[in-house]
Formats: sequence, C-alpha cells, structure tokens
Amino acid sequence: MKLGYLTAAAFATTLGALPASAAGVDKLYVLDCGRISAPDQSRWSPGVNVGVPIELSDNCYLVHNTKGWFLWDTGLPDALAANPDGFKDANSGLLLQRAKTLSGQLDQLGVKPGDIMGIGVSHTHPDHIGNVEEFPQVMFYVQKAEYDWPNANGTPRFKPEHPVTKLEGDHDVFGDGSVVIISTPGHTPGHQSLLVRLPKTGAVVLSGDSAHFKANWDNRRVPGFNTSKEQSLASMDRIAGLLAKEHAQLWINHDKAQSDTQKKSPEFYE
Ligand SMILES: [Zn+2]
Repeated sequence: MKLGYLTAAAFATTLGALPASAAGVDKLYVLDCGRISAPDQSRWSPGVNVGVPIELSDNCYLVHNTKGWFLWDTGLPDALAANPDGFKDANSGLLLQRAKTLSGQLDQLGVKPGDIMGIGVSHTHPDHIGNVEEFPQVMFYVQKAEYDWPNANGTPRFKPEHPVTKLEGDHDVFGDGSVVIISTPGHTPGHQSLLVRLPKTGAVVLSGDSAHFKANWDNRRVPGFNTSKEQSLASMDRIAGLLAKEHAQLWINHDKAQSDTQKKSPEFYE
C-alpha cells in the first residue's frame, strides 16, 4: 500500500508539471528496426509458456515536430540487413534479423541524419541502440542512471564524445508538451518510455521494454533479467495511470501481433 501511495503521489506531481497542449507535432512514423525469434518466450515471462517459441517485432519511431525530427530507439544494427539469415546469438539462442535498414527508411522519407534534432533510446540493450553511432553529431537523450550503468565488462555504454543530455526524470523534448520522455526504470536502471500527443490519433505511449508483449502487460509479468522487479511493476503502474489520464494507446515495441496491425513508414500517424 505504501508503495502504491508513493507511486500515485509521484505520478500526480509529475503529471501536474506536464504541459497540456501539443501544438507542434504532426507526424509519427513506425519504422521496421528488426525482428527477434526466440525459442522460449519464458525468457520474458518466467514460468509461463516455457519452451514455447515467440517472434518479436523491433520498432523505431520517428516524430516530426515543427521544431525538428526526433528519433526514438534505433533498433538492431543496420549491418544485420546484409545477411538475410540474420545472426543467431549463441548465448541467448535468439535469432536477430533486419529486413530493412534504418538509414534506408530515413532516406525514403528524405530525412538526413543532420535533420534529426535528437535521439532518445528507451534503454541500452543492443536491440535498441544498434545505430546510435550512425548519428555521431545528434544530441542523445538518456537517463543519467542508464548512461552511468557500466557494461558487464566494466566499459562505458557510449562513446564519451557523443553529445548527450543526461536526464534525471521526465523531459519535455520540444518544450510544447507534444513529445515527453517518461522515466520508467526497472527493465534497466534508466529505462524510459515516450508520450507522444498527436493531433488526430490522440496520445500514444511508446512502451520501450516496460512490457515485451501484451500478455506480460496484462498480467504484470516481469522478465527475470530486469534490474529491478519492484521498479518494473511501479513503472507499469505509472504507465497505466498515464494511459488513463491521457486516454492514450499503449504501443508495445516488441509485440509483433500489435505491430503487424500498425501503419509502417512511409505511412504515418497524424
Ligand atoms: Zn528490447
């Protein structure tokens, strides 16, 4: 109960600070940033569907605001696209594939790396940061807790020369309330999600890996490898509150069934 009270209180305070209008945003593109085939979905749902294979989508999202372009997540490395069979990770058993490059999809839209004013990543797992260094000059928005979290071998996660804004909590990207980074730790120490308030579609919350697929969201299941189960559950509560307040849709990045129903770039949501 205590945790629930604190979460609700923190949530109300933060939301009170979020601007209500969203004048500047007009387009949201869903980009195909890879596919993950897993032999055992219980990797993400401990004890449930053990040994049952699953296919996951891996999306990137591109937002257009009158002040510029903002890229959310960068997916698996573009180099994977050169091998149609993909890459089988021996440790995890995951098969990683990319049918299209991120750069090719940006080219198709006429968006050059220099046109992008910022990149946010939900977190620093390899299926989300695969192309960050394709944009070496672009400001990178990441939670300080994620930036400072060392790799398993002790090395930093990012090149120190890459321009970075280290966040400690939520961040209104364009200053008009249209695109707001929401702090949702638990999957990793500095995991974050994205609220996009579109003029016609309405509000959308991009999940990051707060949940990997709908059944995990519905049942509040947390993968065993998350850095904090308690934070993960609190972040899911926080997102649920945001969905209710904003009448928002939850777009779960890795939920292939949902992703298959969505318009893909060059089509877009308004
Ligand atoms: Zn992921």
